Amino acid sequence: MSVIHQSKYSLTGGIHLPENKSQSSVTDLQICPIPEQLMIPLNLHAATDAKAIVNVGDQIKFGDNIAESTGIISAMIHSPVDGQIAEICNRPVANRSELDELVLIINCNNDCNNSTAATENPKIDWFDQKPEQLLETIKLAGIVGLGGAGFPSHQKLDSGRLESHTLLLNGAECEPYISCDDLTMRNYGCEVLEGALILARSLNCQIIQIAIEDNKPEAIKTMASAIEQYQQSSPFNVELEVIEIPTLYPSGGERQLLEIVTGKQVPSGSFPSALGYTVQNVGTTLAVYEAVVFNKPLIDRIVTITGDAVARPGNYRVIIGTPIRYLLEFAQWDESKCETLIHGGPMMGFPIADPDRPISKISNCIIASSAEEFPKPLPEQPCIRCGKCAEVCPASLLPQQLLWFSKSGEIDKAKDFKLLDCIECGACAYVCPSQIPLVDYYRFTKGELRAQSAAKVKSDKAKQRFDFRNQRLENEELAKQLLRDEKAKQRAAKKKNDSVDPNKQAVADALARVQAKKKAKLKGNRDV
Ligand code: SF4
Ligand code: SF4
Repeated sequence: MSVIHQSKYSLTGGIHLPENKSQSSVTDLQICPIPEQLMIPLNLHAATDAKAIVNVGDQIKFGDNIAESTGIISAMIHSPVDGQIAEICNRPVANRSELDELVLIINCNNDCNNSTAATENPKIDWFDQKPEQLLETIKLAGIVGLGGAGFPSHQKLDSGRLESHTLLLNGAECEPYISCDDLTMRNYGCEVLEGALILARSLNCQIIQIAIEDNKPEAIKTMASAIEQYQQSSPFNVELEVIEIPTLYPSGGERQLLEIVTGKQVPSGSFPSALGYTVQNVGTTLAVYEAVVFNKPLIDRIVTITGDAVARPGNYRVIIGTPIRYLLEFAQWDESKCETLIHGGPMMGFPIADPDRPISKISNCIIASSAEEFPKPLPEQPCIRCGKCAEVCPASLLPQQLLWFSKSGEIDKAKDFKLLDCIECGACAYVCPSQIPLVDYYRFTKGELRAQSAAKVKSDKAKQRFDFRNQRLENEELAKQLLRDEKAKQRAAKKKNDSVDPNKQAVADALARVQAKKKAKLKGNRDV
C-alpha cells in the first residue's frame, strides 16, 4: 500500500507565484569550505540573546559550548571549529532592524575539523532513551527552528508534548527561490525520517505525517522510499505517511499547513497543539537526528544561494558564522551585476546592506539579484478598495481595514481586527494594484502594539510596586503604633506600682503592729 496520500483540503486564500526554484535545486548539494574567520551572532531573532561564556584569547575546540542560553526562550551556541576567540563585539548582522548585534569572532585553526566530521562517529543507540532525555539532548545541542523563525526547538516540543498526537513535518517550502528543504529531503531522506522518529518519541506521538508540495516530486519519492525501508525493519509501531499538498503560497506557514492537512483552522491566539499537532521543519529534524545520533550540536545548516548575480547557484552546507561574502564568492558571485542582496525569500525575507554579515542559524537563503530580476517597486498609490487583498489573505483578515487603522494610528482597532494573526506573508501586497507596501504598515503597527503592551506591563509593575510600598508603609505605621501602645501600657503599669510610697507603707505596717500588740495586751488583762 502506498504511503503517499494527496491532501483533501486547501488553504484559505493564497496565491500562485513564479517558483524560480530550479536555478538552485537542480545541482547537487555542496559543502562550503571553512573560512579563516567566523562571526557568530548571539541573537536568535525569535528568542533572547545567548550570553558568551568565553573570553578573548580563549582556545576553543569543535563543539565547545561558547554561549549559554539566557532564559526560557533562548538556545546555546557551540563552536563549529577548533580555533581562538579573537573578539567579542557589536557588528552588523543579517537582521531586519539593521541594528548591530553582539557577535563572537573566531580565528579558525588551519587544520580545524570539518563540520560534517562528527557524523562519521559511531552511532548512538537512542531507542531506549526516555522522552525527557531526548529533549535534554536537543536542548544541549542548541537546536532552533531552521525554517526561518529560529524558535528554540526544545521549548516548542516541551510545550506541545502533552497535547500532541501527531508530528507534522513541514516540507512545503512554499517561498519562491528557496530549495534548501527540498535538497535536505532528497539528500538525507533516511536521516530526516529517523529524526522524525526521535521527535515523535520525545512527544509521545504515534503518527508522523510529512507534508510536501507537489512541485518536489523527487523529495516526495525519497521520503516515501525512506518510510518503506523503515517499515521493513520497524522497531516501533508508528503510523507514517507522506502527504502531497498543492503548490500554493503560503502553504508552508504552520497554521496554513495544518489547514491543508486537517481541513481545520488553528483558533486565533492558539498553537497547533490545539489541534493535537506539533509541526517541525525538515531541516530542524535533520539537526535533531545529528544531535541525538552523533552528539553533534547545531553548528551548520543548508543554505540556498541563488539569483542572477551568482554563476553557481545551488545549495551549500555551511557552518554558522561564515561571512555571506565568502559563501557568495564560493558560488561565483558577480558583485558588479548584483543590485540587491536578500536574506530569506523574496516574500518574507529582507534586504541586507552588504555581504559582510554572517550566516546564522536562521539563514535559509541568500538571493543575489540583478536589477532586472527584482525591479524597484513603483510608487505607492491610494487604495481603490478593490478587495483583492482580502481574497488572498490566508489568515482571513481584512488587509484594507488593517491598512486604514495602521495609517490612522488606531492601533487598538487594528488589534480588534486581529492584526496579530497576520503572518506577514505579503500575499496581499503582491496582488495590490496600488503597490501599497501593506506588510510594512502592519509591521510598524505591530511594533506599536508591542511597545504599548510593554508599556502596560511596565506601568502595571510600577503600580504593583507603588501599592506594595504603600502597604509596607501602612504595615510599618501599624507596627509602630502597636509598639507605642505597648510602651504606654507598660508606663501606666509602672506608674501605678510607683504610686505606692515605701515610707508610708512602713509607717502603716508599724501602726498595724502596735495595734496588734495593744489588742493582745487587753486580751491578756481580761484573762487574769
Ligand atoms: S488590494 Fe490594495 S487597492 Fe485593493 S483594497 Fe487592498 S489595499 Fe486597497
Ligand atoms: S500579510 Fe497578513 S494581511 Fe497580508 S495576506 Fe498575509 S496574513 Fe493576510
